Amino acid sequence: MTLQSEKWKKDFPILNQVVNDEPLVYLDNAATSQKPTAVLNALDTYYRTSNANVHRGVHTLAERATRQYEDARETVRGFINAKEVAEVLFTRGTTTSLNWLAQSLGEAVIQPGDEIVISYMEHHSNIIPWQQLAKRKQAKLNYIELTEDGHLDMESVRQKITDKTKIVSLTHVSNVLGVINPIKEIADLAHSKNALMVVDGAQAVPHMTVDVKALDADFYAFSGHKMLGPTGIGVLYGKREWLEKIEPVEFGGEMIDFVGLRESTWKELPWKFEAGTPNISGAIGLAEAINYLETIGMDAIMSHEQEIVSYLMPRLLEIEDLTIYGPKDTKDRAGVIAFNIEGIHPHDLATAMDMEGVAVRAGHHCTQPLMNYLSQTATARASFYLYNTLSDADKFVEALLATKEFFLYGLD
Ligand code: PMP
Repeated sequence: MTLQSEKWKKDFPILNQVVNDEPLVYLDNAATSQKPTAVLNALDTYYRTSNANVHRGVHTLAERATRQYEDARETVRGFINAKEVAEVLFTRGTTTSLNWLAQSLGEAVIQPGDEIVISYMEHHSNIIPWQQLAKRKQAKLNYIELTEDGHLDMESVRQKITDKTKIVSLTHVSNVLGVINPIKEIADLAHSKNALMVVDGAQAVPHMTVDVKALDADFYAFSGHKMLGPTGIGVLYGKREWLEKIEPVEFGGEMIDFVGLRESTWKELPWKFEAGTPNISGAIGLAEAINYLETIGMDAIMSHEQEIVSYLMPRLLEIEDLTIYGPKDTKDRAGVIAFNIEGIHPHDLATAMDMEGVAVRAGHHCTQPLMNYLSQTATARASFYLYNTLSDADKFVEALLATKEFFLYGLD
């Protein structure tokens, strides 16, 4: 498997470059992924041959652009196994998807005194929209606790989801702890209390098979740019029965059926939610990214990343003064490793590693409540994808050790 990653890497032209006199080793995939030639070509071809506005024109280019845009929706539907294309809404990304939900679903189902349940490991984009909703509606926002090793504490899950809970919104995979959460089990619990299950899939869809029907998620959000697609395109999946019931958040062209002076009506699903000219090329690029991922196979991608993490984990755990956040066991773990070395600020560490050509991230990773929970202000983070090889993993450890030497013992 890992041998194949050498081959996959060749599909990503950006990776073939030297940074600070060293070959680039890109390990910031949880922030965003690189794009294969197939996606770059799809964007280029669209603008060179098919660019037009969708849904409105009858001319040839308009029909071609519309068909490609709607075909892209079908590609996304198949990829996440949604029942119908009406359940696949194009958004700008996970953040927009979750904001739409907190406003629209929030308006429909939350009353004063109701409860919304999230966890301490959420990304800010799965915290703040619910926080704002809770304030607006005088509802209560409850946080699920984590275990020592960074799993959701299932006892806490059972305690926090009560008869007052209307919405449970959890990340499928943590962008810091790397842990994969048991969404189906929690969705069953939520449904047993008549609560809805919302999933932040930003770190899951790019790396593993996600079947929204099997998970029984009511809503599922993800971003194109983290899965080899362009920036500015994302998805909100929702079960038809709920998308029918809730109101759009944005209004204007494209989403209307009839407009009167005082009242208007909306188009049917999924267009009712997509006001204005959509990100047409983004959707087409995302569909091409999905075709690329499907050719390799999501199970192959997942096992490749787990292989890299299994290879790295024992070597990292041997490094004195290095702490890894999240489970040490590589089972139930995706390709994200957040860590700190005592005595070295993660920003200094990331800067020094960049001098070795290794791109890792440092900071709070948009998870300040999690950082507080871990009693940290920041961590370093290496995150892997299909094009990372075992030699990238070796280079990462080498650069880490050299950086540690440099900061703790200085230059000879
Ligand atoms: N949730 C998680 C778990 C993430 O990792 C991210 C991106 N870092 C987001 C949400 C937000 O995604 P976007 O910035 O693409 O909207």
